[in-house]
Amino acid sequence: MAEAEIDLYEVLEISRGASKEEVRKAYRKAALASHPDKVPEEQRTEAEIRFKSVQEAYDILYDEDKRHLYDTHGMGAFNGSGEPGMGAGPDLDDILAQMFGGMGGMGGMPGMGGMGGMPGGPRPNKPRKSPNEEQKYEVSLEELYKGKTVRFSSIKNVICSLCQGKGGKEKATAKKCSTCEGEGYIEKLTMMGQFLTKNTVACTTCSGEGNFFSPKDKCKKCKGKKTTEAKKILELYIPPGAKEGDKIVLEGEADQVPGQEHGDIVFHLVEEEHPTFSRAGADLAAEIDVTLAEALTDFSRVVVKHLDGRGIELSHPKKKGDILRPGQVIKVPGEGMPIKRSDSRGDLYLTVNIKFPDEKWTPSPAEVENLKQMLPKPDPPIQAETVDEVEYDPKGKMEDFGSKDPSGGTAWEDDEDDEPAQCAAQ
Ligand SMILES: [Zn+2]
Ligand SMILES: [Zn+2]
Repeated sequence: MAEAEIDLYEVLEISRGASKEEVRKAYRKAALASHPDKVPEEQRTEAEIRFKSVQEAYDILYDEDKRHLYDTHGMGAFNGSGEPGMGAGPDLDDILAQMFGGMGGMGGMPGMGGMGGMPGGPRPNKPRKSPNEEQKYEVSLEELYKGKTVRFSSIKNVICSLCQGKGGKEKATAKKCSTCEGEGYIEKLTMMGQFLTKNTVACTTCSGEGNFFSPKDKCKKCKGKKTTEAKKILELYIPPGAKEGDKIVLEGEADQVPGQEHGDIVFHLVEEEHPTFSRAGADLAAEIDVTLAEALTDFSRVVVKHLDGRGIELSHPKKKGDILRPGQVIKVPGEGMPIKRSDSRGDLYLTVNIKFPDEKWTPSPAEVENLKQMLPKPDPPIQAETVDEVEYDPKGKMEDFGSKDPSGGTAWEDDEDDEPAQCAAQ
């Protein structure tokens, strides 16, 4: 279908680099100009098709993810129902209602709806779109870095192909529901606190349809349910640089409901924690280990393996005589995450962790003396009137810091039992 494809930018008469605001403005203009009510009867069908492609163009170009998908993959990235001007488009009244706050609304059909229990309120409207299926999708940082296409099979309810969602045999007509007298809803009296109120609720006999088929008239294939289960292979495309909270929408892939626009499957990306890298926006951070000798002298080696498997090599020192210090941060421009819809990338921040020698390092007295001669001399001694040489524990823990707080519930452990007054006085 590539050669016959409509250019969405042309539909809205905007340039490829148009901003979101420009897309919205162009959409409003085009939607108004091509509204079917504004044209003579004989041009109405054509206008309707145009109107729908304008809506389609807006839906895709106004959404950053979809626009990127369109820019990179064309309309082929969207499923069949996403082709402009084709298939079951959105309801015109709905679009106008969204745009102009309900001005174009026609009252709507009574039936089931989310507003089912509003006492004395307006009659519930039948939802125009079947519910979206929202789900979480966990992705590793590697996958977000490189981008990913996932194919998976899904079973969903589709409109019955035999009765086209009618629910009954071809010649059969549905019987009017006697419970609700064909209205699809009934008024129910319920107690709200101490008041008896009238609620409008969907009729359970006919499931809010207002009518139903007798058993012998029911469609053989769907048994009157109007939908059947179908297996479909779906493709989920995660663009490079996507992040936690991003939504990937598979338009029209949710369960189908007769008479309604098909809802979407919406994936909410969840970023898995990574053992090496942490991420903030498009930037990445990691710690690198450098030995004391390397920090003081030089090295040229791979310090970290990047998310795409590349080794990131550093040559130290950058300037002759430079040394690395604990906690020093090395910034590598352009080695962060890809930024969606651009060629640029975030930066990589490497925090230097100096690995001091462990117990296995046992230099000879002569080597120690050499080191002392090589390394900078200590500062002048601290002057004090009295000096105590103290005992110490070389492996103290900062977790213990503050644990000897007399008011904090911990017992004051004083070796000198003859001084209890000091404790009580505080
Ligand atoms: Zn059927
Ligand atoms: Zn009924």
